[in-house]
This record gives sequence, C-alpha cells and structure tokens, in this order.
Amino acid sequence: MHKEEEKYYDIIVIGGGAAGMMAAGRAGELGASVLLLEKTDGLGKKILVSGKTRCNLTNTAVLPRFISMYGDNGRFLFNAFHHFFRPELLDFLNHHGLDTKVERGGRIFPVSDDARDVLRVFKQYLFENKVEIKLNAKVTDIIVKDNTACGVSANDTIFHSKAVIMAAGGATWPSTGSTGDGYKISAALGHTLVKLRPSLVPLVVREQKLAQAMQGVSLRNVRTTAFHGEASSIDSTLTPDSGYGRGEKKQPKAPVIESRFGEMMFTHFGLGGPIILLMSLSVTEALEKGPVSLLIDLKPALTREQLHKRLQADLDKFSKRKLAGIIKDYLPAKMIEPFIELTCIDREKPAHQITAVERGKIVELFKALRFNIKAALPLEKAIVTAGGVSLKEIDPRTMASRLIRGLYFCGEVMDIDADTGGYNLQAAFSTGYLAGEQAAGFRPLIK
Ligand SMILES: Cc1cc2nc3c(=O)[nH]c(=O)nc-3n(C[C@H](O)[C@H](O)[C@H](O)COP(=O)(O)OP(=O)(O)OC[C@H]3O[C@@H](n4cnc5c(N)ncnc54)[C@H](O)[C@@H]3O)c2cc1C
Repeated sequence: MHKEEEKYYDIIVIGGGAAGMMAAGRAGELGASVLLLEKTDGLGKKILVSGKTRCNLTNTAVLPRFISMYGDNGRFLFNAFHHFFRPELLDFLNHHGLDTKVERGGRIFPVSDDARDVLRVFKQYLFENKVEIKLNAKVTDIIVKDNTACGVSANDTIFHSKAVIMAAGGATWPSTGSTGDGYKISAALGHTLVKLRPSLVPLVVREQKLAQAMQGVSLRNVRTTAFHGEASSIDSTLTPDSGYGRGEKKQPKAPVIESRFGEMMFTHFGLGGPIILLMSLSVTEALEKGPVSLLIDLKPALTREQLHKRLQADLDKFSKRKLAGIIKDYLPAKMIEPFIELTCIDREKPAHQITAVERGKIVELFKALRFNIKAALPLEKAIVTAGGVSLKEIDPRTMASRLIRGLYFCGEVMDIDADTGGYNLQAAFSTGYLAGEQAAGFRPLIK
C-alpha cells in the first residue's frame, strides 16, 4: 500500500548529485517549489570522491575541443553549453565564495583542493532557493498520467509534482549511490537505453605475471597504442607518432584503435594510469569484435635508428658490463629483470658479446612492449558510464523527454561520457542547469 504525500510540488528531482543539485537549485531560483529526493544519506557523494577528492570541476579547453571530448555525442551538448558553460559555472561558484585555479591540461580545481567546498556551495544554493530535500529516499517509479510525468514513488510513498527531473547518475562507484536505478526507471517508461560500458577504467592483460613483476611502476612520457589483433602479430612500426582518439585532431585507421602519449602505470592485473583510462572505452568496444593488444613505446622521443646508435655507443663504452648494467639508464629499476627476460638474452653475457640481432631485439622491446588485453575492469570500477538513456529521445534545447511530457533528464544517466579533465562534471552542471530552468517553465496541459 502506498501512502500519498499531500503536498504538490512544481518539480521533483531524482538524485542529489552534481546534475540534480544544479537542476533543483536553478528551478528553485526561478520560483518553483522543488523536492529533491536522494537515495543515500548525503548529497553529492560522487562530487566528494571526484578528482581524487580535489574535484576537477571543468576545463579551460575552447568550445570545439571541449565538445570533441565527448566523442560523437558531444554535439548534443551545444545548446546546454550555449546556455550555461564554464564562465557561467565559474561565476556561479565564485559568487558562492569558491575560488578556482587552473592546473596542467587546463584542469580547473577549487583553490582549496577540497571537493567538500564544492558541495558546500551546492548545499547553500539549495538552501537559498528553498529546495526541500529528502535523504534516504529511493525513487522506484515515475508516475505518468495522460503521458505526462506527475510524480514519483519513493519508499512506498507517492509524491506529486507538475514535472520530474531524472538525475540519478550512472552505474559506477555504487557506494556513491549511482547504481543504475535511473536506467531502469527510464526504460520502464519506454526510453531506449544505449548499452552501458565502462569508461575511464584500468585494463586487465593476459600477461599478468609480467604486469605483476612491474606492479607500481609509473611511466611518464610513453606512447601507448591499442591495435586490433594478437600482440605477437602487430607490426610495431605502425605505431603512430601523434595522438589518435577523442579530442585529438587525427582519427585512427585500422588496425590502430587509439594512441595516447603521457603517463601510465603497471598494476597487479594489468595497466592503469591516465592514458590507459582514456583509451579504455575504445578498447572495450574493440574487444567485442576480436582480440586487442596494447603496445607501449617506452622511448617515443627516439627513432629506432637513434635508439640503435645510443645503445651501440653504451655497449661499446661499458663493454664489460652485463645487460642489466646497461639498461639501468633506460628503465626504472623494477622493469629491468622482466625486460631482460623478454629479450631472452643471457643475463651474464658482457656487453661486448651482445650481437646485432640481440641489439635489435632490445630496441624492438623499447619501442613495443606488448600486451594482450583480456578485459576492462567492470563498470562499478569505472569513473564514468558510457551509454545510458538515448539522446535521440531527449530534446537538446530543453533536456525534455521526447516521449513523456514533463519529464527532463540531466547528467550521467544520459548517453554522455567524456575523457578525464573536468568534462563530465561540466556536462552534469550544464545539463542540470538547463533541465532545472526548463522544468520550472513547464505547464501541464489542463484537462
Ligand atoms: C572516482 C571518480 C572520480 C571522478 N572525478 C571526476 C573529476 O574530477 N572531474 C569530472 O568532471 N568528473 C569526474 N568524475 C565523473 C563525475 O563525478 C560524474 O560524471 C558526475 O558526478 C555525474 O553527476 P550526476 O549528477 O549525473 O550523477 P551522480 O553524481 O552519480 O549523482 C546521482 C545521484 O542520484 C542518486 N540516486 C541514484 N538512484 C536514485 C534513486 N533511485 N532515488 C533517489 N536518488 C537516486 C545517487 O545516490 C546520487 O547521489 C569522477 C567519477 C568518479 C567515480
């Protein structure tokens, strides 16, 4: 038996994350009576863990580059960004007492390096605009009459409203409350779901022993390239010398899937770190079609010829040293033994006995340390959910459902995901702002 809440609200917002808080605050600011229902015992739990608890709010990238970070679906965001983009977000935050700073890669953080300060701003915004908040309120359904959303049911209680904003987030990091409820509730109303995939997630390799032996080693300034096919079959000279993928000027040509330059690390199950996370979505998608391998160019600044020359010079200069004594200048200490094992060169052999063929093997390994990708870690471990409510069924000018009147979407529940750098939060804030504003202006048909 459902109880019925007597009060009628203009708007009910489902989910108190970045998008939902922005939507609720904006609708309240425009004079709407708003009820924000949050399933967990606190608002903004994902904001608190974002950017390693420092909260990378947005990015200084210019609009075309910004949009390209969301891949093909980025175009959907033009209207929302036109309405409320980075300058408006920063003004809003500054106005509420939060100063921001720019870091490497244009990433914008609070000056305090503390995500709790971001949450404080939103709590203040909700308070100022008289948004009613119910915590521990898990929405299970949206109530629809005459094809118009007119309330929700949560904790066996029916709450009535003129419009509903769906902001229940994705399905990653379930401890923050995002367990995919928004997908189920939306699908029950007839909305199409684009397949959910983990995005920004570490990768599991078949060569686990090798990865384990190098676990914890972090490499800067390397190039990682994902290829279709078994690692042993890849022609490593196809490794591009510039980035291929989202946000890059060049798009990959088969067998290359994606290529990135930057920082990565070895873990006990495989590969992690910034550039691996960036590549994870295209790798996951390619794995559905067949084997995928990842080649690491440990010395991207040097051509094969330059490496040959430098190695030959070192072998001549330190002719009595063993191989480990030579390559210690090329690699982190923890990589030396696994690397020598891969060369199959007798580790006791002095440098002057290393043959041209063996030198070639060393150079090849520097240019292409090969891994076969087994899988990505599961969705729960990803930073963002790729896939979600199909954008074809949401009006980008208003965030309104094209199927149900009075229903609006914002944030990660939609089929929107981006690379790291503050893009995901900006999308949540911008779509939340627009959804809140539009829902506040919604008038149900009078019957
Ligand atoms: C570890 C980590 C670090 C990140 N770092 C960054 C970063 O630095 N910069 C960046 O741009 N992005 C980052 N992201 C991504 C970004 O945090 C999310 O994309 C963004 O927070 C999504 O906002 P949202 O409001 O759509 O969803 P969420 O923040 O997930 O909010 C959804 C809310 O809905 C609630 N909810 C769910 N179901 C129900 C229900 N049935 N009833 C009521 N409430 C419900 C949830 O409890 C939750 O509070 C990070 C993500 C993770 C996991």
